[in-house]
Amino acid sequence: RPFAERVPRRLADIRTLATHSDFPKYLKSKPEVTPDFGPKADVPSIVKGVIDDIRANGDAAVKRYSKQFDKWDPEAGFKLTPEKIDEIISKVDPQIISDIKEVQQNVRKFAQAQKDHLQDFEIEMSPGVHLGQKNIPIANVGAYIPGGRYPLLASAHMTILTAKVAGVPNVVACTPPIAGEIPANTVAAMHLAGADHIYLLGGVQAVAAMALGTESIDVCDFIAGPGNAFVAEAKKQLFGNIGIDLLAGPTEVLIVADEKADPYMCAVDLLSQAEHGPDTPAVLITNFEHVGQETMRHIDKLLPNLSTRELAGTSWTNFGEVIVVRDLDEAYKLADEYASEHVQILTEEPREALRKMRNFGSLFLGANTCVSYGDKCIGTNHVLPTRKAAKYTGGLWVGKYLKTCTYQEVTNDEASGKLGELCARSARAENFEGHARSGDLRAHNLLGNKYDW
Ligand code: NAD
Repeated sequence: RPFAERVPRRLADIRTLATHSDFPKYLKSKPEVTPDFGPKADVPSIVKGVIDDIRANGDAAVKRYSKQFDKWDPEAGFKLTPEKIDEIISKVDPQIISDIKEVQQNVRKFAQAQKDHLQDFEIEMSPGVHLGQKNIPIANVGAYIPGGRYPLLASAHMTILTAKVAGVPNVVACTPPIAGEIPANTVAAMHLAGADHIYLLGGVQAVAAMALGTESIDVCDFIAGPGNAFVAEAKKQLFGNIGIDLLAGPTEVLIVADEKADPYMCAVDLLSQAEHGPDTPAVLITNFEHVGQETMRHIDKLLPNLSTRELAGTSWTNFGEVIVVRDLDEAYKLADEYASEHVQILTEEPREALRKMRNFGSLFLGANTCVSYGDKCIGTNHVLPTRKAAKYTGGLWVGKYLKTCTYQEVTNDEASGKLGELCARSARAENFEGHARSGDLRAHNLLGNKYDW
């Protein structure tokens, strides 16, 4: 069933349990609303229509949708030439360029450490039987850098730079124009991250063009990057034609707080994520009711003075929750059920969560770190699983761009002959006569066994 249906059902189950005791106690629960994407709420069928059209009509369809959804149809085409990129970057504030470089250093350093922990290896299973594993970078990656509402230049570091550290030779990167303008800071980040080709193209049309190929965009093997519900749905529908990193849809945040937590900080940090879009779940779970009550009071006071209050307020009203539990173990258990993209731990012993929790995209331990650090600068990857995908995957990392391939070689004749016998018996147990003959042949050649065909 679609994610949107599944989430409320699970939460409804939890609430049913709640009627049998005082806990969990919902100081604020989210109304049972369906995310509203405007008049066209049927995201899967809109996305399917766009993909089918681009599959049939290539660039002509891409242009049409870019005009329709982004009011963007440049005569020069969607691809930025090296000269145009230089011209765009020359106008970017030098402080922003310097900050991009500093953040990219952090992202590169962490991604490189991840790569260093991913060694190729070979073992000798028995004398002369060699088995190995080799991590091979994907050849052509399409990186989606979101930008409908905000110029999410940090996503350029996360997708493009990480692919480059993995060793991907060709990275095609797309980002949409914002309100008809070129997002210069994002283009700078994409270029500095090492994108080989940059297109100003957004949403489903960008993802489909990279996945299917058109007259002007070469087909990619794999699409990575976050995005809104349309982007996530497009990746889901195109999976199979191409590989995808994960479903990294609208942002989520969950805070676990105890009596030591500062409710003002809880409020600020919940709002920091709620502003991503109108559909961001922001959840506080605490074992101390006072922290919950005070956090809600602070949010009510802070929201009117936040410039992004329209988005943050919509998210908070529709998807915000404040839940009181008996103790922290119950908090971790409930948080595991939410499997939120970002989980922030504001407790006396934050590392306890690292030991006890199972489902999270990324964990932010203690008051000295926050989700915004992960989003913007600290160096971990901010492309993370949403809608409970954290139950089965972590976020984007170097390993997602590598194919872990195996190989084998047998340098000992007797070992190969013995494997031939074992293979033939195993294959015949499955009625695979052809497989068995390959084993028979080796056993015949190397051990002198009988062989007729
Ligand atoms: P976006 O680039 O994802 O989407 C913009 C595109 O959506 C536009 O180019 C347009 O083509 C398309 N679109 C908009 N309305 C449409 C419609 N009615 N029909 C068809 N297509 C339509 O940018 P955004 O909208 O600002 O969203 C960015 C998202 O990325 C946010 O939801 C944010 O939370 C999420 N995000 C997630 C992560 C993660 O790791 N999970 C990280 C960063 C950002």
